[in-house]
Amino acid sequence: MASPALLMRVVASAYSVAEKAATIVRNVMSAGDLGIVEKAGPNDLQTKADRLVQMSICASLARKFPKVTIIGEEELPTEDVTEDLIEDGHCEEILKKPCPAQYTGIKEEELVIWVDPLDGTKEYTEGLLDHVTVLIGIAYGGKAIAGVINQPYYNYEAGANAVLGRTIWGVLGMGAFGFQLTEAPAGKHIIVTTRSHSNALVNECITALNPDHVIRVGGAGNKIIQLIEGKASAYVFASPGCKKWDTCAPEAILHAVGGKITDIRGNSFQYNKEVKHMNSAGVLATLRNYDYYACRIPNTVKESLVP
Ligand code: AMP
Ligand code: MG
Ligand code: MG
Repeated sequence: MASPALLMRVVASAYSVAEKAATIVRNVMSAGDLGIVEKAGPNDLQTKADRLVQMSICASLARKFPKVTIIGEEELPTEDVTEDLIEDGHCEEILKKPCPAQYTGIKEEELVIWVDPLDGTKEYTEGLLDHVTVLIGIAYGGKAIAGVINQPYYNYEAGANAVLGRTIWGVLGMGAFGFQLTEAPAGKHIIVTTRSHSNALVNECITALNPDHVIRVGGAGNKIIQLIEGKASAYVFASPGCKKWDTCAPEAILHAVGGKITDIRGNSFQYNKEVKHMNSAGVLATLRNYDYYACRIPNTVKESLVP
């Protein structure tokens, strides 16, 4: 049999690398010293887990795929990464799946990997552990085409016998796996939005959509999980703040199951390596009925957000 396509090898490795990351996230928390550092301010934090996980993911993937561009959230000194942080395994199941035809010829230098080592850091520091995800998004030709979302504390309130953590992954043209795709309740408008980065515009936009219910939780990865598991019908965030590493893996998974994510003005995101990191015009995402929400966003809100 021919050796698996590069894209499938990258996804299979990213799966194992994300599982190692989840172990690091849990170990830092149980050791008790989070080593919190403020970046831009008290709502923009970095912990020891963010730092160790980024080193682990970036070094592990770079070792296997040296010509791939890897962009991580954290700015870290380029000191040598210790060997215990390296993961060299891969998921066999993923390698067995055929690569979608349009991606079989991809070369290493054409891929860009966007890494959010720990999405939902604020919530992690506050003990809202199931909001936390590890995000590895894979882009080609400026588009998010594959992604891995690990949720290290999935099931953590389900009792001692429950298996802790899960890995969701997907490839455009193939689908997404590791969860049960569920539609949100028909006829209900449930919006999921930020918990720790609200402002007047964020709230004005939500009010204008007249939702039946608003869920406020941390993390971009976590909010996409709310959409694909039918907990919410739209993710609405009318503010700058989210970055490309927050949206790349979630976008690939959402699009792989037929959903849609754009900025608040309806522009799609680009993920080529030169792109600006900030998603300045916010986020609008749905699994179904994107147009229902898009056409109800007030022009005043759209005009306040410059891409
Ligand atoms: P949230 O929905 O507030 O959890 O945000 C989703 C992602 O965007 C997280 O990675 C946040 O850190 C990031 N984010 C959103 N708004 C801001 C902001 N105002 N400052 C820094 N990061 C933000
Ligand atoms: Mg994040
Ligand atoms: Mg992060």
